[in-house]
Amino acid sequence: MNVAADARAALLLVDLQRDFLAHPGLVPDAGTLTGNIARLLAAFRAAGLPVAHARTLVRADVDDRMPHWRRDNLWRCVEGTPGAAPPAELEARADEPILAKTFYSPFQNRSGDAGPRARVLVVAGVHAHACVRATVLDAYQRGYEVWVAADGVASYDPAHAALSRDHLEGRACRFLTMAEIARRLNLSLGDPAPGASPREPVHAGGGWRASGSGRVWRQHNPADHAELLYTVAIGDADDVDLAARRARERQRHWADEAADQGPARLRAWADALAGRRAAMVAALTREIGKPVADAEAEFDYALGLLAAAAGRAGARAPERIADGVEVMRRPLGVVGLITPWNNPLAIPVGKIAPALAYGNTVLWKPAPPGLGIVDHVLASLAEAGFPEDCVNVVIGDAETGQAVVRHADVAAISFTGSVAAGRAIAGLCALSGKPLQAELGGNNGVVIGACRDPARAAAELASAAFSFSGQRCTAPRRLIVTRDRYDDFLALFLARVGELRLGHPADPETRVGPLLSRQRRDEVLARVEAALSRGGELLRGGGIPAHAGQGCWLEPTVIAPADAGDAIVREESFGPVVVVLRADDFEAAVALCNDVEQGLVASLYSDDEDQLRHFSRHARAGILRINDAGRGIHPEAPFGGWKASGMGPPEHGRWDESFYCRPQAVYRAAPARPARQPEGAPWKN
Ligand code: NAD
Repeated sequence: MNVAADARAALLLVDLQRDFLAHPGLVPDAGTLTGNIARLLAAFRAAGLPVAHARTLVRADVDDRMPHWRRDNLWRCVEGTPGAAPPAELEARADEPILAKTFYSPFQNRSGDAGPRARVLVVAGVHAHACVRATVLDAYQRGYEVWVAADGVASYDPAHAALSRDHLEGRACRFLTMAEIARRLNLSLGDPAPGASPREPVHAGGGWRASGSGRVWRQHNPADHAELLYTVAIGDADDVDLAARRARERQRHWADEAADQGPARLRAWADALAGRRAAMVAALTREIGKPVADAEAEFDYALGLLAAAAGRAGARAPERIADGVEVMRRPLGVVGLITPWNNPLAIPVGKIAPALAYGNTVLWKPAPPGLGIVDHVLASLAEAGFPEDCVNVVIGDAETGQAVVRHADVAAISFTGSVAAGRAIAGLCALSGKPLQAELGGNNGVVIGACRDPARAAAELASAAFSFSGQRCTAPRRLIVTRDRYDDFLALFLARVGELRLGHPADPETRVGPLLSRQRRDEVLARVEAALSRGGELLRGGGIPAHAGQGCWLEPTVIAPADAGDAIVREESFGPVVVVLRADDFEAAVALCNDVEQGLVASLYSDDEDQLRHFSRHARAGILRINDAGRGIHPEAPFGGWKASGMGPPEHGRWDESFYCRPQAVYRAAPARPARQPEGAPWKN
């Protein structure tokens, strides 16, 4: 390496190659990651600090792949192929060494001996749970002080990545944001969002505050990607710390105040929200592309959830168990709420309302899309008279979410999102012993049995599957039809799908709007293409509609997969994609319905009593729908996924009590009498 010996710091980029960056489910996504790392790389180069590139380079002629790649017949990063190359913005310069490797760490090869000569080694790249982890451990053993760029590493296995980080942090390395690395090394990271001043991501102490994270999120209009709606800074661990401390201070008072004030404040919150209905529906439509009809349904559902929580708020007399033994319901303290972008109103309201009702305060980390809704929620809480800091917000990404979970002042986590993120959070909660409620992804099966009105079933299912472009956790995704009814039902279903109106989300007639972003659309398209390349049959859709322009539309797509074990069947597409499966008989259909990891919703269309009984007894999901795909979710019913789709108690109605407060048994001796007392109590252990 052509640098002066012992530079104060060097940058090592690990496996930033197209094949690795294309791995499905990368968090953060490849675009965000390479954008972040490009800024760090530019800062190192500008300061004249050394840079090295570790790359996996497999030779086809001698087949030096890792044994497990050979076993699974995986060919990645083959020397000379486009997949082995980095994205253009991360190309190595002529004076920067490329450390070739075939296993996890460049230090395991001889080329690792040529590692940068510096005191501090800054590591960034993929995958955080594998090559980055191994590289960090080896670098540490070679005497480097290792800093990992926390926002410059990514993984497709977030649970494993989070636990790797917990293991490495403080032992082999420090995880520091790029902004902090730049500060310590006196580097200039440059403007993350040229031309736009990002909005502030932290709401604590009664107003919005800036963050020093140096990272940003850009939100484009889903119906017109060319329009940048806003740029928001991403909150970091310091921001989470501030918001958590504010929430903790407030909770000391709110625990008592909630008993008297809770019901009235929650009712006032409902009134304040109701006054904002039109503006909030418009924000949902514009910012996340939710069609008006779906946005109105979400709004009404949110008010229903709020009413359910308000009805349970307020002082409760202790429950008497026996003489001198009673049970009090106590709040948990500060509850961390991490929410997804697809229901940016109903999901947060369904968590914030019971959290406050039972005397907790809140640290809320919303997803960056849908920030207009966050503004309305905070403004309406203030209008309703909730004291400052009852609800504190840090806008951010997975990194920010993990800081919320790790914070010592956060007593419990309620999370809604993907299975992968839920598992990462579960790992962190397990390490610190925090209760977790998690509502996770669905992959919902529908069995078509002896149904008297298959046309109605087809119409309801087409609408439920494709409204909001399938970006609903409860959307039907797998239709399972017995062999004898398959052709007839498929014809009905495809006809109804063809009638669904694609359009602008602000048009009240629209059923199918755009996907959230280009990146989401491309991910879904890649899943469809992969299924077809494996022998699946495209029955309808599968492309970008001719008039999509800059909007992120995808045609409603129906696929007959090659095999029930195909990824398109087993994984949640979270887009406008339905798979149709053929079953030999009704029992086989129910077995196929159960034969996925997830278990959020299972549905049946049948008028046969025996089939109904069999389905009710055997379907394994938290929500069953019988001849009923069209109705919304009731705010008083338990909402919780089974299997991979959920953890902890379900949400809503009286079930909220089992998460947002905990029982405290109080044993109280009768006041001592001056006269003779019997010795001991009869129930004493
Ligand atoms: P996501 O899991 O990517 O993100 C959800 C939230 O978690 C966001 O705020 C995100 O920033 C944060 N996050 C992501 N990874 C994290 C990590 N490793 N640690 C901490 N926080 C992390 O999901 P999404 O794309 O926003 O939403 C779509 C997913 O949510 C789908 O899988 C859908 O089925 C699911 N979902 C489930 C329900 C339900 O009630 N079961 C409801 C709506 C959405």
